[in-house]
Amino acid sequence: MTECIFCQIVEGDLASDVVREGSEWLAFRDSNPQAPIHILIVPRQHIASLEKVSEQNSLLLGHLLLAAKTISQEQGIGSDYRIVLNTGEGAGQSVFHLHLHLLGGRALGWPPG
Ligand code: AMP
Repeated sequence: MTECIFCQIVEGDLASDVVREGSEWLAFRDSNPQAPIHILIVPRQHIASLEKVSEQNSLLLGHLLLAAKTISQEQGIGSDYRIVLNTGEGAGQSVFHLHLHLLGGRALGWPPG
């Protein structure tokens, strides 16, 4: 079995709270939520980080963003939300499988920590 926990979730080998899925991506609740709504949107394909994407992943990246928008509407957080894409350990990335964080349901301060 792969060591990547998000690949395990995509494969159904590790339980998750799935909220929506597309042919290229899966969205599930973060197990350590930082906001009332905290959902991760991950490509089914293993890509370690944004540093590893190329031009051929352009459509996929667009689909991930559009999924975030759709899910924010479905989850009732409307048009006030934040999308985070931590890239690299120094920026807080802890799971090296590309993912967007969708955060909403509370006021979100700026700058982030
Ligand atoms: P990052 O630090 O940007 O790499 O984000 C990884 C996120 O994955 C963190 O917010 C974790 O809480 C979340 N996470 C880790 N393992 C799981 C899991 N098994 N199910 C859901 N979320 C997870």
